[in-house]
Formats: sequence, structure tokens, C-alpha cells
Amino acid sequence: MLRDNFNRIHDYLRISLTDKCNLRCTYCNPVDLPKGFFAGAPRMTADEIEKIASVFIKEGVKKIRLTGGEPLVRKDAGEIIQRLAKYPVELAITTNGVFVHEFIETFKQAEIRSINVSLDSLKKEKNLLITGRNEFDRVLDNINLLLKNEFHVKVNMVVMKNVNDDEIIDFIAWTQQQPVHVRFIEFMPFTGNRWTNEKVVSHQEILEIISRKFSFSKLPDKINDTAKKYFVKEHKGTFAIISTMTQPFCSGCNRMRLTTDGKMKNCLFSKNETDILGALRKGMDIVPIIKQCLFEKEESLGGQFTTINNNPLVSKINNRSMINIGG
Ligand code: SAM
Repeated sequence: MLRDNFNRIHDYLRISLTDKCNLRCTYCNPVDLPKGFFAGAPRMTADEIEKIASVFIKEGVKKIRLTGGEPLVRKDAGEIIQRLAKYPVELAITTNGVFVHEFIETFKQAEIRSINVSLDSLKKEKNLLITGRNEFDRVLDNINLLLKNEFHVKVNMVVMKNVNDDEIIDFIAWTQQQPVHVRFIEFMPFTGNRWTNEKVVSHQEILEIISRKFSFSKLPDKINDTAKKYFVKEHKGTFAIISTMTQPFCSGCNRMRLTTDGKMKNCLFSKNETDILGALRKGMDIVPIIKQCLFEKEESLGGQFTTINNNPLVSKINNRSMINIGG
């Protein structure tokens, strides 16, 4: 069992399959991406991903989420999904939705039931502005395809002041007729993403905006949930808020991350990384290395900040960009 110094059991691993992405979302990609940013670094092969994942599973991991970059741009993404599907673990995926239609059968065979799709605007033009690519229709079609095939679809929407906060109500209206589970995410700071305190729309503000048009109730959350869930009566879908910046949920954290170059991060905001891939390639036993990394986990937010309300230096935190960590 993987337990940290604060007695938190860690049974959820997020694996980044790649740091490449076919979209250029402003909040995720570093500005001024240096030339050759994606080249050179060692990458976990499908074999190595399976080996490392199997060790984590033996140590008690019950859920693995594949992410990136965009996990589905990796050429052997289908093979990796099939390999991991053989293990006694709940498999999940976070995707921008663009290639979902090519993977529907793979998802079904792998018994993946829940898919997170990122969509930050219900307007085509604004989507183009945020993602830098004209894929809105494809993503919406693919969300509908997932719904038609009875997947549990969570839609991740990063809320940014004066960018898309005027659409919060439209997203809630969408849940009226469609069983989509919208998750409003507070904008988080990463290297190069031009985060400022002023651009964050807080959990409280999101609820206030929604309450102007809809009355809603709280749904129960589980101890490890990052999202606080709500529902509007008679809506087919639900909504939730991921409030990392104003109401962090570290006390119930059960998550670990593996970057595409095989570094373990014990927290999304950890400064330190542990080279699991390097150790595996040297033939070392990676279990004690994983345990040591977890033992060093800070109590909250990588020890880098507490909440935006009491730390003006939050924009100076030391971390990779989100695309390079694996969201
Ligand atoms: N390409 C996939 C996608 O678009 O969902 C997976 C990777 S993406 C990094 C994973 C999630 O991180 C997405 O839902 C995205 O919205 C979220 N994300 C990225 N940067 C963020 C930021 N600065 N603040 C909050 N959420 C962010």
C-alpha cells in the first residue's frame, strides 16, 4: 500500500502518454514554446509504461488515468490502453476530444466507462481563440458520440475571467437535456501560462453566477474527490467545481503523477521529481524509490503556496507547464 507521511493512501496514478498536443490552449501551453521543446527527452515506451504501471498496481493503485499533452495523439495509444486494460485497475482518460471517434471501440474493449473531455466554450469562435485550432465541431460531435454510446462524460471547462465566465450559465443549460457532467475548473498557475490572480473565477463566484439563473443542490462527495458536485433539479447532467486555488482538497489527496519522461510527481505542484524511468532502465527495484517520493509529499499544493488569498507570490511557483506535466 502506498501511504504518505500524512497517512493518505495513494491509489490513483495519472500517466502522461505524451507532452505533444494538437491544440494550443492558452492556459495550458507555455507561451513562447522554445524550439525543440518536444524533442530529445527520453520517453517511456509502451513496454516501460506497462512495467511501471504494473508495479504501481501491485502496490495498491486502483485507478489509472491516461493524460498528456493529448494522450490520443500518441501513435501507440490504442496499444497502451489495451495493455493496461488487462490489469485489475479502473482505466480512465482525459482528452481534448478531437480523436475520440477513432478510439470508441478501443475504449469499449478496454471497458473504459468514464471519459473527461476538455471544452472551454460552447461558441466556435471563442473556442478557436482559446485552443488556437478549429476543432470545435469535431469535439462537440465526439461528445455526442460518447453520449450515444452511453459513456459517462465529464466536460472540463477552465473558467477564466473575461474570457469564458460569461458562458457558465450556457454550460449549466446544456446539462438540462444532455447527461453531461460539467466541471468548472479554477484557473491554475503553471510556467508560461500568463496566470494572474485576477483571471481566477473562484468557486464562490461560480456558484453566485449560477444561482442568478438556476437553483441547485449539493451532491455528496467522496473523500478523494477533487470536484465538489451539484445538481439542478430535473437536469439530466450535473455540474461540479474544481477549486484548487480557493478551496484546495489536499487532505483527501490520493493522486500521483508520472510524466511522459518517466518522472514521478507526488503532487501537481511539486517542485521535486523522481526519476522512475531512469531507475527502471538501470534494472533497479522501483518500489522503494516510489515510496520515498511519496514519503516526501508535502501536506498541500506541493508546499509552494496555500491559497491565492494569502500568497501573492503564487504566480512565481516553480513547476513545469501543464502540457509538460500531464493534466
Ligand atoms: N489534452 C487533454 C485535454 O485537453 O483534456 C489532457 C491534458 S490537459 C493538460 C488535462 C486537463 O488539464 C484539461 O482538462 C485542462 O483543461 C486542464 N488544465 C490545463 N491547464 C490548466 C490550468 N492552467 N488551470 C486549470 N486546468 C488546466
